[in-house]
Parts: sequence; structure tokens; C-alpha cells
Amino acid sequence: MTEQRAINGVAEMVATGLVPGDAADALRPVEEAFRIRMTGAMRGAVATPDDAVARQFVPSVAELTIRDEELGDPIGDDFHSPVKGLTHRYPDRVILHVTKTCEVYCRFCFRREAVGEEGTLPAPDLMAALDYVAVNPAIREVILTGGDPLVLSARRIKGLMERLSLIAHVDVVRIHTRIPVVAPEKVTAEMVAALRGARVWVVVHTNHAQEIGVAAEAALARLADAGIPLLSQSVLLRGINDSVAALEELFRKIMRLRVKPYYLHHCDLAKGTGHFRTTIAEGQALMAGLRGRVSGTLIPTYVLDIPGGFGKVPLVRDHAEPLGGGLWRITDWRGGVHEYRDPAR
Ligand code: SF4
Repeated sequence: MTEQRAINGVAEMVATGLVPGDAADALRPVEEAFRIRMTGAMRGAVATPDDAVARQFVPSVAELTIRDEELGDPIGDDFHSPVKGLTHRYPDRVILHVTKTCEVYCRFCFRREAVGEEGTLPAPDLMAALDYVAVNPAIREVILTGGDPLVLSARRIKGLMERLSLIAHVDVVRIHTRIPVVAPEKVTAEMVAALRGARVWVVVHTNHAQEIGVAAEAALARLADAGIPLLSQSVLLRGINDSVAALEELFRKIMRLRVKPYYLHHCDLAKGTGHFRTTIAEGQALMAGLRGRVSGTLIPTYVLDIPGGFGKVPLVRDHAEPLGGGLWRITDWRGGVHEYRDPAR
């Protein structure tokens, strides 16, 4: 297979046939609002310009439709940020936003207004964030995210792992990344060595079996062979993976690659993403369709990140009660009650 190069922006999407030339002008405002990029691996995984891989990365004018309920910070990262670059939402864990850069820019991204800038968290801010972790013994887990933390060099990741290993109360460092799937060549021997033995769990973002090519399979094998535990997180996306068959194929495939399906996210209320969002009832029906059809080990937890920064809840009876008319009563982990309106379709 010919190696493909990364594609940035509408003009390159047109040049590679992913966007028709006469659609380019209409997409300029999308490009001005949100970064556009897909890797060579993802370009190589596209079979037709409207398939499940292409739809995740090729911009659409539908992104210009901002619904009333959509938010710039849909999961409320900024409500719980005691120091720059760090979110402390739950007592025992923090999120460390080490970079705002990604290898791809997913059209449905929940942080689409925050990601896209080049560069990593400046060293003084990173130091302040690590100091915050060090003086808070209740923090048992540090989740590296961004952006995509594995855009950092192996040398920087190694240094960060060494710093975190000095904080005795941190049991787990969780790395949320799309790179093993979208840019598997970046999972180098040096990167694996930086992660090995560092109390690391890698959580791989993947949404469709078609995006996991041979190189991604090899990258995941390198991580698994190094003894690094692998989990997945996927986003439920209308027109991409919103069928029992698509989810089954994805979860069977990643399980075979030693990746345990962990979370299926209800698509967050990020601006311009309404065309990707299913209703909660549709998501619950898909989960019910998987039950019994596949082993329980293949079934992730279907979750909603409550808008406003109230954390995740599994979309099951104890936490999500339908009130009719698309309205839901959502109960968060502290017992707080929130109304959530499923967007009208
Ligand atoms: S890789 Fe993750 S953070 Fe980056 S654009 Fe995609 S969903 Fe957003």
C-alpha cells in the first residue's frame, strides 16, 4: 500500500478528492472556526469519501449549525481548574492537559474549541500542575490528555513519567490517546520504553473497525507486548457507528487486539456537532442489542458527561430517568440532579 501523507485544511482535502472542489467555498467558515487535519493512516483507511472514517475527519457545513444547547466547554473542564492545564473534577483523580495538539482533528471533538494550537503546556505551568498533584495525597490517578499526549516526543513522555513516578500517592497514570490508531508509526520502541513499567494504562480512542489498519494492529501489539494495559473509549456517532453491527465489529476487533472496551461516550454537546449526536434512547437500545449477542467482556459502559462539569454517569436506570418529550433526569455521582434535554431531531 502506498504511504499517504497527512492532509491539512480544505484545499488539501479538495486536492486529495475528499471534498468536491465546488464545496470548498462553503467550507471556509468551518476551517476558520475549527482545525482540519487527518493523518496519512486515516487517509489510507478511507474507502469512499463518505464512509465511516472519512466522516470523522472531513469537514461538513453541518458544523456551522450551532444548537442552543451546545457549549464551548461541554464537559466543564474550566469549572474545576485549580492551576493552569489541570482539571480536578473528582477527589481521587486529575486531568493534565499536556498539549492542545492532536494528530487528527475529529469533527465531533468535545474539546474542539480548545484543541488545535501548536505547542505543549509551558514548563512552569507543568511544574505547577505537578506540584499541585504532589501536595494533594488524595490524588491517586493522573490522566494525561490534551489534545493527544502522545504527540509529545518519547523523551518528553519519559521525563514526565519519571516526574510522576516520584509522587508516591499516584497509583496510576492514564494516557488518553488516539495515536495508536490514527498515527501508529508514532508508537516507536522509544515511546513504548518510556511508558513501560511506569504505572501506565493507555486508553485508546477508536470509533470504527475500519480505522484500525495493519499498522495500528502492530502498534497496539507493541504496547500490549510491553505489558501496558489497554482500554478503549469510543464516541457514539450518528452515521458512523450507530448500529449494533458496527459496534460489535469494533469491540470484537479491539478485544482481539488485547484492548478492553471501556467507555462508549454519548456524543457531547460541543458546538456544531448535532449531526453526529444520537438520542440517549437510541444509545440505550444499541447497548441492549449488544447484551447477550457479545460477551460481557466486550461491552463498554455507555456514559454521559453531564454538561457543566458534573462528571460522567452511566446511562442506566439509576442515573438516567426519561421524563418524556426528550427530557431526562440525570443523577450525578454526588446525588445531584440535572435536567438534560435530548436535542430535538
Ligand atoms: S484526538 Fe481527541 S482531543 Fe484530538 S480532536 Fe480527536 S477527539 Fe479531540
